Amino acid sequence: MDPFWEKIRAQAMSGDGIGAEDALKVLSLPGSAIWRLLDVSEAVRRHFKGDGIRLCSIVNAKSGMCSEDCSFCAQSSRSAAEIVRHPLLGEEEIFRAAAAAKDRGAREFSIVTSGLTMRSREELVRVGDAVERIGKELGLETCVSLGTLRISDVEYLLSRGLRSVHHNLETSRSFFPNVCTTHDYEEDVEAVRTAKAAGAWVCCGGIFGLGESFKDRVELALTLRDLQVDSIPVNFLNPVPGTPVEGRRELTPIGCLRIIAMLRLTNPTKEIIVCGGREVNLRDLQALMFAAGATGTMAGNYLTTAGRPAEEDLRMVRDLGLSLRQNR
Ligand code: SF4
Repeated sequence: MDPFWEKIRAQAMSGDGIGAEDALKVLSLPGSAIWRLLDVSEAVRRHFKGDGIRLCSIVNAKSGMCSEDCSFCAQSSRSAAEIVRHPLLGEEEIFRAAAAAKDRGAREFSIVTSGLTMRSREELVRVGDAVERIGKELGLETCVSLGTLRISDVEYLLSRGLRSVHHNLETSRSFFPNVCTTHDYEEDVEAVRTAKAAGAWVCCGGIFGLGESFKDRVELALTLRDLQVDSIPVNFLNPVPGTPVEGRRELTPIGCLRIIAMLRLTNPTKEIIVCGGREVNLRDLQALMFAAGATGTMAGNYLTTAGRPAEEDLRMVRDLGLSLRQNR
């Protein structure tokens, strides 16, 4: 076997993961090398994670009206996108969304709100009430994505039965000022550290296709490794009309597979969950995301864009001979 493939396989199988130079090489491989790459990334996924696939689902519990200016986001202060905007949903509405997600096969349900942070104690308690009810009555693992939380807020939600906290870094530290100017990268890093310190399972990743370089993609992957996040959600830009990135279309299906594989080989023991933008960017190659190293995907709709029908995802998992994982 070519020494390059042997080396990256061995480094990933050791659990340490490949270094920056090899990660850059993975992103730069010619299209003809994709099958070789998938052979390695799939072996690493099976070695650490087996054949169980996780399906997550979310509810956009508070939509739009965000003070931040993230370029890709239809809910941001500089977005003119036509989206539904609403304040925090009631406990009953959140619970009904979770019940529907369970019917779609999801085992993890995330309550997501727009904005830099949760504004009030009343809102936090409402989310806590929903978390507790979803856990007790539906048996779903719960996750929240509520912006930058204090450690006492995370501890409170954990006391109500919460399992995971989601907070994306979005991109590399170097590229972040091109994506968001209203808060600092370090605030997001701190939010991740806070969630970990409180004892939450931490889900943290980013979005690709914003104009970042291969180096930025590797930098993000290695930052996530340094932070020892538990799960890496991967989004591919699905440009929404009315956002500053509406004309940007630079990803290819094979390029997306290379990104997933690079994340698998740099973070070999972690969950990798492919989320927004997979339908439009991976197109007919969606099923190959698992060979590239994904251990899960998001079923149902995304925050402001529609996903494909959940039955198609369940069929894809079955047709591949994979199974749905019931718990972590
Ligand atoms: S990604 Fe989050 S913080 Fe950024 S604009 Fe959208 S809702 Fe606001």
